[in-house]
Formats: sequence, structure tokens, C-alpha cells
Amino acid sequence: MSESYDFLFKFLVIGNAGTGKSCLLHQFIEKRFKDESNHTIGVEFGSKIISVVNKMVKLQIWDTAGQERFRSYYRGAAGALLVYDITSRETYNALTTWLSDARMLASQNIVIILCGNKKDLDADREVTFLEASRFAQENELMFLETSALTGENVEEAFVQCARKILNKIESGELDPERMGSGIQYGDAALRQLRSPRRAQPQGTQECGC
Ligand code: GDP
Ligand code: MG
Repeated sequence: MSESYDFLFKFLVIGNAGTGKSCLLHQFIEKRFKDESNHTIGVEFGSKIISVVNKMVKLQIWDTAGQERFRSYYRGAAGALLVYDITSRETYNALTTWLSDARMLASQNIVIILCGNKKDLDADREVTFLEASRFAQENELMFLETSALTGENVEEAFVQCARKILNKIESGELDPERMGSGIQYGDAALRQLRSPRRAQPQGTQECGC
């Protein structure tokens, strides 16, 4: 498989313990549910190349690995999945704190998608879709309900977040070269930079024959 990509984005997965962060990462990378038996393995990191619009983007995703590494964990992230559990109001109430930490410790420009996980447990729901989408709107977050169990909207969450970052790069709102942007150019993009199309020679546009 080719390792060639245009951009590398550093991503974080944040939110209260038990909301399904590790399972979301596992589902995205492995395309299956991480069952209890391999709980101890604890994936802390995963990477995957995805195609977004016409670009290949490598996502380098960090899962929270203990509170002690809390602050350095945030540094230089381009995007984040902010996760709560739709069956737990407590995890939803904690979002404001997670959000201010992310914006303060990562970057003001970090692109965040809110994920209401465990969508499959609708019968036990404590947080409505409408309520969470209002919160997302007020805080300029994208929003999806996901299920790490069924896989619903898991890939979409990562792709939507990456797409928004790409849009911001293309519009000039994000500068990949800024320190701590969480963005790097990949081989494919560097090749393009090294061999820019030659400028059209002046005055040779019209054929003289
Ligand atoms: P973390 O602490 O945020 O990393 O959460 P985990 O990924 O370890 O998941 C916590 C618990 O929720 C585990 O028992 C998972 O099996 C369960 N879980 C995670 N995602 C889902 C989901 O989408 N649906 C259901 N029904 N259970 C989930
Ligand atoms: Mg975990």
C-alpha cells in the first residue's frame, strides 16, 4: 500500500472516560468493534490515510492516555473528536470544560467535531439530538451522533473534521507552516511544491505562423 499523502493532520480524541473514545479510534482504524476481551491492549495511537475531496490525508490520532499527560497531549493538534455518551448526561455536562481546555491548550484554531456516541443505545438516551446540535451550533462545532459498536458515522466524523481543516487551508484561514498547527505536508504535496508548473513565457501566447 502506498504511503504517499498530501497532508498529515494530528488529531485528538477527548471527552470523559467511558464515552467510547478508544472504541471509536479502534472502529475507525480496524473497522470493527473493540470488545471487552482486548480492553487491556488499549490503543493509544492510530494512523490511517483517508481520501478527502481530491487529497490524500494521513490522520495521526491520539487517544487520551491518562490525566498526567493531559497538557502536553493537546499541543499542536489540528483537529479533535469531542466525545460524550448520549446515555449519560454527566458526560454531556462535562463538554464545556473539555472544549475550553482544547481551545486553550491546543490552539484557538483547532477544528472540533462533537460526537454523541453510543447512538445504538437510543432506549437509554439522556441527551436529545436537538439539544446537542444547539450546543454544537453555539460553540461552532460540527456535530454527529456515532456508534463505535455498529460503526455508524465513525468514518464520517473523522472525514468531516479533516475536510473542514482542508477547506481552511485552501481558504488561507489555516497556515500549515505555522508552528504547532498540527499539519504537515506529505510527500505528494512536497513533490508538487518542488516541481511547480513553469510560468508561461511572456509574449509567446500567439502563434506567428
Ligand atoms: P473511553 O474510556 O472513552 O476510551 O471508552 P471505551 O472506548 O473504553 O468504552 C467504554 C465502554 O463503552 C466499553 O464498555 C465499550 O464497550 C462501550 N462502548 C463504546 N462505544 C460504544 C457504542 O458506540 N455503543 C455501545 N453500546 N457501547 C459502546
Ligand atoms: Mg480509552
